[in-house]
This record gives sequence, C-alpha cells and structure tokens, in this order.
Amino acid sequence: MRVAVPKETGAGERRVALVPDSVGRLTAAGFSIVVERGAGTAAGFADADYAAAGADVVDRGKLLAGAQAVVRVTGPAAEEVAELPPGIVLAGFLSPLSDTAGIERLTERGVVAFAMESIPRITRAQSMDALSSQSTVAGYKAVVAAADRLPRLFPLLMTAAGTVAPAKVLVLGAGVAGLQAIATARRLGAIVSGFDVRPAVREQVESLGASFLDLGIQGAETSGGYAAELTPDEQARQQAALEEQIPEFDVVITTALVPGRPAPKLIPAAAVEKMRPGSVIVDLAAETGGNCELTDPGSEVERHGVTIVGLTDFPSRTPYHASQLYSRNVTALLLHLAPGGELALDFEDEITGGACVTRPKVTA
Ligand code: NAD
Repeated sequence: MRVAVPKETGAGERRVALVPDSVGRLTAAGFSIVVERGAGTAAGFADADYAAAGADVVDRGKLLAGAQAVVRVTGPAAEEVAELPPGIVLAGFLSPLSDTAGIERLTERGVVAFAMESIPRITRAQSMDALSSQSTVAGYKAVVAAADRLPRLFPLLMTAAGTVAPAKVLVLGAGVAGLQAIATARRLGAIVSGFDVRPAVREQVESLGASFLDLGIQGAETSGGYAAELTPDEQARQQAALEEQIPEFDVVITTALVPGRPAPKLIPAAAVEKMRPGSVIVDLAAETGGNCELTDPGSEVERHGVTIVGLTDFPSRTPYHASQLYSRNVTALLLHLAPGGELALDFEDEITGGACVTRPKVTA
C-alpha cells in the first residue's frame, strides 16, 4: 500500500502525521511511503531524513499519484477533499462529532475515512490512542505555559536572600491530560491538588504526590471509563465549592470533559474575581467551550488581574514529540488496516468499524 503524507494545511499546525522513524518501520513492513516536500520541517524532521528512511519526497502535485491512503494530523480543507481519489483511505483527527460539513464532503467524495478520535479505547487499540498521546503532551505543556506566565516561582527555594514559598497548583479533571499536568507541576516543585468527579481517580492523584481536593461532589463513571455529566444541581454545588477554594491557588489547570457534550463550566466569573492578581488559569477544555466562564477559546486574556490561557493548540506547540507519538499511533493503525502492507478492511472488527466515519455505500 502506498501511503501519502501531506504537509499540514491547518492554520498554525506544526505537526506531521508520520516521522522518519515510522517511515522506516512501515517500509520494512511492506508499505511504500510518499512525503510532501517540507511536511516535517516545522516539527523538526528534514526531507533528507525521510528520504534516508525510505520515503519518496515529492512536490504537492505528485503526492497522490498511485496513493491508496493519506495520513494527516487534522482533516483536509474542502479543496483538498476535491483532490482525493474516490475510494482512498484517509486517517486523521477528523472531528466527526463537530465537523458535520467536513464529514459530509468526505462521504460525497467516496473516501474511506478513519477518525483518530473514534478509535475505541480498548486495550487492543492502546497503541493507536492518539487522544491520549496528544493529551499527554497538552497536559505537560499547559503546566509549562502556566509556569512561564506566573509572576512567582514554582519550587520552594531556600536561598541566602531568603525563602521562597512554593506555588500552589490545582488541576481540575484528572484524566490523561490532568494526570500529566499533576506530574509535571510536581516535578517543577509546586504543591499540587487534583480533583475529578470520578471517584476512582483519587488514588491516581495521590499516587503522583498530589492531594485530592474534597469538594463533596462525586459523579458517575460510564462503562467506557468516562465521566457522566453532573446534574444541574451538582454542577451548581461544584461551582460554589470551587468558588470558595480557588483563591488559595496560584495556578488552576482545567481539563474536564464529558464526551460529546460542551465542556462543563467549573469556574464561574465570581471565582476568577476572588483569585489573587497574577494568578493563572490554563483551560485545556477551551476547544469545547472551556471549563472557565471567562475563557476566550483560542486566545489568552487577562480578567480581574488573572491570566486565562484558552489556547487550543498545545500539542502543536510541542511539535517534535507530539508528532513522534502521533506517528506511532498512525503506524499502529496502518499496520492494523493493512497487515504486511496489503489493505484488508474488516468493518466487523471493533477497531476498523469503530474508527471508520465514512465509506462508499455498497449497493446490493
Ligand atoms: P476526558 O478527556 O473525556 O475527560 C477528562 C477528565 O475530566 C476525566 O477524568 C473526567 O472524569 C473529568 N471530568 C468530567 N467532568 C468533570 C467535572 N465536572 N469536574 C471535574 N472533572 C470532570 O477523559 P480522558 O482523559 O480521555 O480519559 C478518561 C478515562 O478513560 C480515564 O479513566 C482514562 O484512564 C481512561 N482511558 C482508557 C484508555 C484505554 O483503556 N485504552 C485510554 C485512554 C483513557
């Protein structure tokens, strides 16, 4: 199977879907890989490294010739969909729950599309779990961004000029991103607290050396391991409890999500008002509306003296390792869809069927 890797076209996107290391692996497994010139440059991977790993490096106009699959980080723009040969396989973050127009275009074009976010989170598919790999990067980067903006130091320092008290960090939502944020803030020396509505998480938070913030709220966990949405009454109680506790903290990192729903509002404007000037909120849920009422998705604002970071591209801001991890996820998916480099799609398979979001209709 010949797999094409375009240079990403999304605004500000620096990642690339396959890195040279994966090209070597796939080539050895029977694939042929063609990479658009400059595709990896922004992430730190040179054309020469792709060529050395066995890829053909070509100009955009020649990329799709003979290709049976295209792998990307984010979905193709409308004009790129129009260039895709019908029947071609496409894999990437395709936002199947929110980008209905994009999915419709792919359906009309007859593309066999696999959304990385739709890969079932079962043990067998762990190596393909790009939501987790990118959340890990985002959780780390959110803490680094907060440390950079905070006018205080993170660690306890005892110096000849006196003692510096450590920063206090609160992480709301302790899934993949939240746990990485907790671990990173701990490594930087902060005193860290974590909270999640899923009761099972307490132990994981504590095992990272953080304390579990008791808000007196406990939600349900779905069979898939995700949080169920809180009732309006529980949400109001959570907001009130946080409003009381939040002024204690210098940094709040929020990562709370409920699949298929807008991000739960955890931090009301009144709570931001009570924080100390110079405090920082990094809202990793900004893309689905944000966990803080005052977050401006995609940008960074100051409200009541508090910096609120609503950037939605943290993985792309760490493009080398975000690409490396994503590339391993994509490689595992390709090896699943085309063992030995021969496409063999079995839509009865839980991974193949679950991740496929569009395919040509079979007429009887
Ligand atoms: P997510 O991104 O959907 O949500 C992030 C966190 O927000 C979750 O921990 C959730 O409980 C929490 N949350 C939701 N509403 C909240 C609220 N009102 N207040 C506070 N927190 C709230 O979740 P995720 O990070 O993708 O992972 C969720 C679970 O799935 C975890 O248990 C994780 O270990 C599990 N998981 C399993 C696999 C696998 O088995 N292959 C892979 C990845 C993740």
